[in-house]
Amino acid sequence: MTEAAQTANDAHTPAEAAGATDLFSKFDPLIAERQALMDTGVRDPFAIVMDEVRSPTLAVIKGKETILLGTYNYMGMTFDPDVVQAGKDALDNFGSGTTGSRVLNGTYQGHKECEDALKDFYGTKHAMVFSTGYQANLGMISTLAGKGDYVILDADSHASIYDGCFLGDAEIIRFRHNSPEDLGKRLGRLPKEAHKLVVLEGVYSMLGDIAPLPEMVAAVRAHPNCMILCDEAHGMGFFGEHGRGVFEEQGVSDDIDFVVGTFSKSVGTVGGFCVSNHPKFDVLRLVCRPYVFTASLPPSVVATAATSIRKLMHAGNKRAHLWENSRRLHGGLTEMGFKLGTETPQSAIIAVILEDQTQAVAMWQALLEGGLYVNMARPPATPAGMFLLRCSLCAEHSAEQVETILEMFRAAGKATGAIS
Ligand code: PMP
Repeated sequence: MTEAAQTANDAHTPAEAAGATDLFSKFDPLIAERQALMDTGVRDPFAIVMDEVRSPTLAVIKGKETILLGTYNYMGMTFDPDVVQAGKDALDNFGSGTTGSRVLNGTYQGHKECEDALKDFYGTKHAMVFSTGYQANLGMISTLAGKGDYVILDADSHASIYDGCFLGDAEIIRFRHNSPEDLGKRLGRLPKEAHKLVVLEGVYSMLGDIAPLPEMVAAVRAHPNCMILCDEAHGMGFFGEHGRGVFEEQGVSDDIDFVVGTFSKSVGTVGGFCVSNHPKFDVLRLVCRPYVFTASLPPSVVATAATSIRKLMHAGNKRAHLWENSRRLHGGLTEMGFKLGTETPQSAIIAVILEDQTQAVAMWQALLEGGLYVNMARPPATPAGMFLLRCSLCAEHSAEQVETILEMFRAAGKATGAIS
């Protein structure tokens, strides 16, 4: 058989058989890059399987007990006995799923209770639960800002915020990350009569830095017809007296029109939401496509979320311990000579900046072999083309665990040459 005939024989699609490209060809560079990485003998950082999960901070990965430092399980609610029991009860009483949209057969008592818990937690008149935080951003942004309107967003915004813009018809304007000056300048160029939605985040999850919200709000309020949406995915549970988020901690609650959040981090399950005091808020239930055209969360999920949210209202001690953990880890890593995403500990995310992909993967693997799991992040998800090992702390990490984590970083850093 000739080489060409052999290739045709091995091909899976007619396009491959013809030696032509197909819809997957654009991924070839990524496939090759991944293969080259695997060929160096490293484990695939995006194919980790948790064989057993023992607690919010411990799992078994490939037979090894591993400390979890990359879960966003900030408040450690996933194994809270009341939360777990609420889920079991709802499974028994309401079954495994709703099999329908919120606007048809998918609104159960539990969805209402979850929205009531959110209203109590945030002190707002309205709350809407979505099936994920991603969908909450998708739905809120694309529905609020329509044709002729503007969405003004931080350049480092989460993918769900960008995707919400792509789903809608509004004009999109980006401003420099966390720059009130640039935000004000760009708002000043827009038609005064146009309606504008400014989208901010409390905590930016790649580097773990927080937004200067009072300055951002002041920049917005200098211009007419603006509403502000703040994504508190990484701020909920941890910031502010009631754990509402960075906007609460920084004293700008009255200036934020919409707070979007997720149940997949501090709340410890899955789901998303938006809360607001806008009197017409509930009309969104009829017009917001990512709310209307998808199945609602299973009863067990909303029951665990509602229970967790209510417990988070009284979690001051956990918040204090999480801050201690953040300060200890940030201080220890800085002392060892690691370059971090922020100069001071600003949130429960601490990002270690590595030189390049090779160093990042080597460190990530050395840590995993030592028994520590962290998230690896690379461009295009990261700002400024950075390669990061992102650590997210949990209120359930003990002080001893944080010391162990630091020693693991020291050993991996020395072994890979990331620190001297
Ligand atoms: N917003 C931000 C800032 C996030 O980081 C995330 C998830 N990483 C989301 C929204 C989406 O949340 P979910 O996991 O509930 O889809």
